[in-house]
Amino acid sequence: MKSADVVIIGGGVIGASVAYHLAQRGSTNVIVLDRGKEPGEGSTGKATGGFRVQFSTEISVRLSLLSRDKLLRFKDEIGIDSGYRPYGYLFAALHENELHALRDAMTIQQNAGVREVQELTPDDIRRLNPAVNPEGIIGGTFSSLDGFIRPMNILLGYTEAAGRVGVKFEYGAECLGFTRQGEKITGVRTSNGSYTAEFFVNAAGAWAGVVAQQAGIEIPVHPHKRQVAVTYPTNLLPEEMPMTIFTDDGFHLRVRDGRILLLLPVDFHTADPFDTTFDESWLDRVVVRAHACIPCLREVTIDRANCWAGLYEMSPDKHQIVGLAPGLKNFFLVNGSSGHGVMHAPALGQLLSEIILDGRATTLDVRAIRPTRFAEGKPNAMSEFL
Ligand SMILES: Cc1cc2nc3c(=O)[nH]c(=O)nc-3n(C[C@H](O)[C@H](O)[C@H](O)COP(=O)(O)OP(=O)(O)OC[C@H]3O[C@@H](n4cnc5c(N)ncnc54)[C@H](O)[C@@H]3O)c2cc1C
Repeated sequence: MKSADVVIIGGGVIGASVAYHLAQRGSTNVIVLDRGKEPGEGSTGKATGGFRVQFSTEISVRLSLLSRDKLLRFKDEIGIDSGYRPYGYLFAALHENELHALRDAMTIQQNAGVREVQELTPDDIRRLNPAVNPEGIIGGTFSSLDGFIRPMNILLGYTEAAGRVGVKFEYGAECLGFTRQGEKITGVRTSNGSYTAEFFVNAAGAWAGVVAQQAGIEIPVHPHKRQVAVTYPTNLLPEEMPMTIFTDDGFHLRVRDGRILLLLPVDFHTADPFDTTFDESWLDRVVVRAHACIPCLREVTIDRANCWAGLYEMSPDKHQIVGLAPGLKNFFLVNGSSGHGVMHAPALGQLLSEIILDGRATTLDVRAIRPTRFAEGKPNAMSEFL
């Protein structure tokens, strides 16, 4: 039986960030357990690397601003480039309700102190991304704080930095269940042996609901499959092109390492909710949409062998669930990022380390993402578009 002050279940970008931030505060007797063979086998390794402050609630904007501060310092502090490149996010609206939602969100962003966000006319959109088909576009927004990050650099950076000061990462260790005395978790049983600790953290991404059930509680986190279509290498569009998002159906694209990544969110109805096999039938839809939105994409071909699918970890209001698990005294949640977990990982690691070590988050007011809000009937207001 191994023992630590804190055991973290899940060594993705969020678990690694929590481990690093605990260690930075001097709490280095930490073990991170992950069932994968190596870092990045969960959703972090599947992320496309978008970063934005353009959200529609104050808490999400503030999580982005805190993360951005930390990403700007990442190389000096951690020793690896986080890949943060503020090439922007360009939202293009086709209908009045979408433009209203973007404007409302812009007000929330501005009230949280963001000055670098602007409303766009159709001409502005053509100037910022000349590849966009202007037909039907009535306006949009752009923020120059938004852009791109390197998910695996951030994950490996936190993992290595925490490891240098004594945090242990154990791979091939699948959480199978917990031992519990009343409201306290006393140990975790894994495929690699058992562990005791004073505190436990659920950082199991899309699988967090399963890990919570093993601890005897329910949390509303569900997997949602997302697919990415990839073109063969091309210099058709510049690497600096902003992430370009069409708010009517969420079709968006970016350029990464000389290939164009295309995403179109749809509901995949799979028998196994954790299924990540790539559904080829989706490609026809995304290609039709791509040609309509960005006509020059007719010149490129999809590299089917390199397309992939992964899982978002959805919460009912698309916001994180962060804090002590209801009904337990030493089991902490940092779950439900709903597709924004890489960009918010730097902030979430710091905030959860404060909650564990100080009893509450001191850097930000995190009441909006408290685990009890659903039971209280007070979820965050959801925007369909951002
Ligand atoms: C296609 C796609 C594109 C995305 N694009 C972006 C983006 O542009 N920007 C962004 O911010 N986010 C993006 N995301 C979302 C992002 O990937 C996630 O929000 C983020 O990776 C969550 O981090 P995590 O550490 O919680 O989860 P994960 O990286 O999934 O880590 C959880 C870990 O828990 C482990 N685990 C699970 N169950 C157990 C168990 N029982 N025992 C032991 N270990 C266990 C897994 O092996 C895994 O390594 C995208 C996701 C997908 C699928």
